[in-house]
Order: sequence, then structure tokens, then C-alpha cells
Amino acid sequence: MVSIEESIQDFRQRLSGTNCQLIAVSKTHPVELIQEAYVAGQRAFGENKAQEIMSKQPLLPPDVEWHMIGHLQTNKVKYIAPFVHLIQSVDSLRLLQEIDKQGQKNNRVIDCLLQFYIAEENTKYGLDLEEARQLLHSEIFQQLKNVRLCGVMGVATNTEDEEHLQKEFRRLKGYFNALKEEFFQDAPYFKEISMGMSSDYQLAIAEGSTMIRVGSAIFGHRNYAQ
Ligand SMILES: *Cc1c(COP(=O)(O)O)cnc(C)c1O
Repeated sequence: MVSIEESIQDFRQRLSGTNCQLIAVSKTHPVELIQEAYVAGQRAFGENKAQEIMSKQPLLPPDVEWHMIGHLQTNKVKYIAPFVHLIQSVDSLRLLQEIDKQGQKNNRVIDCLLQFYIAEENTKYGLDLEEARQLLHSEIFQQLKNVRLCGVMGVATNTEDEEHLQKEFRRLKGYFNALKEEFFQDAPYFKEISMGMSSDYQLAIAEGSTMIRVGSAIFGHRNYAQ
């Protein structure tokens, strides 16, 4: 099997010269494995549970960038607000308000992505374009000072059908373009399109991904029973 170090280097080579960065998804894996990736130069890590990020964060160097990529309950925001680098999974105004409140408490602006629903599976979280437009038009949103929206995120259908995946990635890119034009023309920080995982990152990069979230292709299979 390829080592974590080798696969990190492999991704670095693959992504060099592109506009896309690697988020190493370390959920369920112990800090020892994260440390291996860190030593190989990886800094951005993705987790899907607030408590798991909170317990791993003090055990790793302070320049690790923690990305929250899973569904986030409002009552958990406070655990990660002091240090989280990017909350990728914002799917409601209520959540954004709570992130703003916790940002204020911690005297910082917290970067976020809006998560969109692009897959066919009805278990996936996310907004549709109209909901996102309503959120962005709302007075409540416009008064938030301690959050900054940097782009969009989506989880594609779990399928090997490349045409289908391509369609979903293009849909997300289309949402990004629409929001950029309507709300963020003068906001250079609104530039991220987070899409692509272990099985479909190559397609996602071809469709304009700026952040691929790769777990099992780096760390191996996850054992949820642990
Ligand atoms: C787990 C997860 C990933 C990584 O999945 P792999 O198939 O292991 O690469 C990416 N994005 C989200 C939102 C996840 O929950």
C-alpha cells in the first residue's frame, strides 16, 4: 500500500500549477495518521464532527487548518469557533447567525462556504439556489459582521457514472457563477468551489474545483465501528 506521505506528495504534484488545493479528510482517523500527513507538508484537514475536531486540535501543531465539512448543529459551533479555518457546510441562515455570534465572542471573522444540494440522494444536506439567494438578500445576513462567505461546497451522488457526476459538478459551478455575479462581484475572497472526493476528484478538478476533499485515497478505509 502507498504510504500517507507518498500519497500526499502525489497529490501535491498532481495539483501543482492548478488552482485547486487538497483538503485531507481525516475523520475517524487517529492523530498519529494526521501527524504523518503533516510531516509530509499537509496543513489543511477536514473533519465532519465538531467534537472530533475539538479533541484533535490541541494534539496537533497550531498551524493546522481545520475545515468543518460535515453537518453542523448550532449548539456545536462554539466548540470550533475559536480556531476553525473554514466551515464548509453552512446550510441555513440560523447556522450562519450562530457562527457570527461565536465569531464575535472570539473576536474573529469566520470564513464559511454555502453547502448546496447537488446529489440525487435525498439524505444529503444543502441549499438550493433560490434558498441561497433568499439568505443573501435577507437583512439579517447583511448585518452579520463576523462571518465571511468564500464560496460554495457540494457533495455529488455516490456513483461511477461520469456523465452524471459531471452534470452535478457543473450545476455547483453554475450556482457559484450565479452568486458571484449577483452578490459577490466586488469580493475577491468569494472564489472557492469545494467539490470532489476520493472517487471523483479528477472529474471535479476538470470542472473547476478549487478544493478537493480527499479521505480514503490518503488515509485508507474508515472504521466507523471504533
Ligand atoms: C468523508 C467526506 C469526504 C471524503 O470522502 P472520501 O471518499 O473518503 O474521499 C469528502 N467530503 C465530505 C463532505 C465527507 O463527509
